[in-house]
Amino acid sequence: MTALKQQLIKRIEATGPITLAAYMAECLMHPEHGYYQKQAVFGAEGDFTTAPEVSQMFGEMIGLWLADRWIKMGRPDAVKLIELGAGRGTLMADILRATEPVEDFQAAITVHFVETSTQLRAQQAERMPIAHATTTQWHDTLASVPSDDGVPSLIIANEFFDALPIHQYEKSGGKWVERMVGSIDGELALVGGPCGPQFSLINDAIKAGPEGSIAEVCPAALTVVGDIAERLNTGGGAALVVDYGYRKAAAGDTFQAMQNHAFTDPFTAPGEADLTAHVNFEMLKTAATEKGLNALGPAMQGMFLMAIGLGARAQVLAGQGDEAFQASILSDLKRLTATDQMGTLFKVLALQPHELPAPPGF
Ligand code: SAH
Repeated sequence: MTALKQQLIKRIEATGPITLAAYMAECLMHPEHGYYQKQAVFGAEGDFTTAPEVSQMFGEMIGLWLADRWIKMGRPDAVKLIELGAGRGTLMADILRATEPVEDFQAAITVHFVETSTQLRAQQAERMPIAHATTTQWHDTLASVPSDDGVPSLIIANEFFDALPIHQYEKSGGKWVERMVGSIDGELALVGGPCGPQFSLINDAIKAGPEGSIAEVCPAALTVVGDIAERLNTGGGAALVVDYGYRKAAAGDTFQAMQNHAFTDPFTAPGEADLTAHVNFEMLKTAATEKGLNALGPAMQGMFLMAIGLGARAQVLAGQGDEAFQASILSDLKRLTATDQMGTLFKVLALQPHELPAPPGF
């Protein structure tokens, strides 16, 4: 039994079941036993592979998209480049390298990472180029990145929102109950409890659903969108959110656990598996729009990347190597864009003030 499981069972036996959101937060972010403190999370030896870990081309295209936003903002002398949940720091490294030729852009940037894992903060620091090594800052939340200095922000979040804790509800016996994590015969298991206040965020169409329906909500995601809106409304800038999720709010259970590139039971070994839920893009988009932002998309990742020039970039890159290299570039291209791979499940949402000209890719 993992140390975290022992702690959780003890706590639940003493004070009662905890919400799924509290369980997710403990499993992912516990300062000692949390999943993101593990050494090998990403890539072939880890549990899952994200787009920046598939190919450098992903970060290069995102970098050029961000630089274009900076140019359209009128090339401000200073800009914060903020990444939420940066993992190993691969995406940021690729963004910075790809945008080197954009005149004056590098000199304007200060890098800010929003990252809770100390282990990943260290990996991110190792990947930073010398030019940014001494000025880069780390923060626990987006709200703690300074915002009263009038400096605009470019914000990027890849596979960050799926890691934020969700609440789940189930319609049982004609009424809704909150799905809680309890302890049954010394094992963690789902039990029903009274719905907490976050249930009010679920829309009426879903609430009217049939017996057995599952509803999900991620209040932490709404908080982050609120913080993004406040920042962009006051200092200007743009944000790009990339994640797996759905365009239209719908009932359904998307809570999942991943270990060694396979799905696993989320309650067997807390802290050992990655826990995520699909992102409700409709809710994020509505929240951003209500806060006065222009929300574009969500576009399918494959269409977005091709629209901003991934095909041409792949061709140039492939031309620099032998046949085996060309085949690997083609396979990476497919992985990022094909409908049966990351192309349609992953979506891209852009947020920016209405004054800024519309971004490419939507
Ligand atoms: N963007 C990276 C990593 C995605 S994994 C990539 O694409 O490879 C999720 C990342 O978000 C990890 O770095 C994790 O430590 C971080 N994270 C998860 N929840 C967080 C939170 N609430 N606040 C800050 N960082 C968080």
